[in-house]
Amino acid sequence: MLINNLNILIGLEVHTQLTKLRSKLFCPTPADYRKSPPNTYVCPICLGLPGTLPVVNKKAVEYAIAVAKALNCEVSDKLVFVRKHYFYPDLPKNYQISQYIGPGFTAIARNGYVKIYADGKVKIIRIRRVNIEEDPGRIVYVGSIEISPYSLIDYNRSGIALLEIVTEPDMASPKEARAFLEKLIAILEYLGVTDPREEGAFRVDANISFEGFGRVEIKNIGSVKDVEKALTYEIIRQKKIIEQGGKVERETRHWNPSKGVTVSLRSKEYEEDYRYFPDPDLPPMKLDKSLIERISSALPELPDNRIARFTMQYGLDEYRASVLVLNKWLADFFEDAAKIYSNYKKLADLLITDFLRWINEYNLSPENFKATPLHIVKLLKLWDEGILSVKMVKEILPQIIKDGIDVESYVAASGYVKIIDKSYLHKIVEEVMKEHPKAVQDALSNPKAINYLIGLVMKKTGGKADPQITKEIIQEILSSIR
Ligand SMILES: [Zn+2]
Repeated sequence: MLINNLNILIGLEVHTQLTKLRSKLFCPTPADYRKSPPNTYVCPICLGLPGTLPVVNKKAVEYAIAVAKALNCEVSDKLVFVRKHYFYPDLPKNYQISQYIGPGFTAIARNGYVKIYADGKVKIIRIRRVNIEEDPGRIVYVGSIEISPYSLIDYNRSGIALLEIVTEPDMASPKEARAFLEKLIAILEYLGVTDPREEGAFRVDANISFEGFGRVEIKNIGSVKDVEKALTYEIIRQKKIIEQGGKVERETRHWNPSKGVTVSLRSKEYEEDYRYFPDPDLPPMKLDKSLIERISSALPELPDNRIARFTMQYGLDEYRASVLVLNKWLADFFEDAAKIYSNYKKLADLLITDFLRWINEYNLSPENFKATPLHIVKLLKLWDEGILSVKMVKEILPQIIKDGIDVESYVAASGYVKIIDKSYLHKIVEEVMKEHPKAVQDALSNPKAINYLIGLVMKKTGGKADPQITKEIIQEILSSIR
């Protein structure tokens, strides 16, 4: 079997909590449950007790419309909830209130797309649908799902508003899946509907198959990096089976991040198994065109628009612009610094390479690193003036990020008052020589006349040029002229 000619099809199903909501999807219970003990943020509705009735959270619907619009979807003119039936301990009603596309009901939005950049290419990933649904409770396994002797249940999460965003199988590699998820996270962050960094707020089911073979779904992956790793693992596993003439089972698997493997959980259930039907407690509601239009026209600047603006306003190429923009805090940092520093490309380069690397290295979040835009601009200016070499910039940068040191006082205290950057001094020496051809002629015939040229360089740099290095550069240039 020539497996390398087979297409890989990857589709993603993303569950994202709308963490910016203050209450759950169908009851007034507070949604900010993470810091409280298990089973404290609950009420009769989200515990599914008899006689209770759900009331839909209006803000959740508005957020869903905003997300749908930002994903270029068609928004439905009605809101219909269905019951998705299954038994699981995390689901006290034995059904989940969700949405579904079928006769008489529909998802809140469908047929959208997201533009991604992967491997230097632009690609369109189609969005099949966006659903609103409630999160089940949380099952806590002691150790891990495979070895836990028992499981605990926490209903704090039960009834939290979730969006389910489903793509078409348009991604052809784990890298493209990662690029899609990074873009989606950025869009959600720009919209201000969720903080995807909150624990458990962003979960992914990934399905993957070789064209013509069985499709495997990997459930509940907790981070973008793990999605990429799990898919990479599955490609190798499925390839082996196909090459040995075997059959890839249609099944659901679990990703074990610590072991770096997927393990079989169960054979895949089919959609009809869930017996979807409209929820009689939540009659269909009309979604006014004017409401949809109002939300649509109030959308903030989204990543694609900001990338386009960065290329226009700052002259950055699309690659640099998108690395900045996909990290919203970094793009904000860049724009603050760009107000007081105009070599935008140099600024962008420092931010998307060493700066970002050190932030990750120290495991800092945008809230707790110490560098301000002013710190970075001061560093760049000292670099521009040749007082700091590239090497020194790279040495000082992590200290600015971690401890917020002021580069000017640091430079003064460390005695970096001399300009020692060779390429910078070379430029100055060349300028001086061009401006004083007679002095150059003198120096060519009389070695002592070099001192006059050194003096001119000192004058030009306000006395900061390192005389020894300056002398060496002048001698080099003179001997190249001779
Ligand atoms: Zn409740």
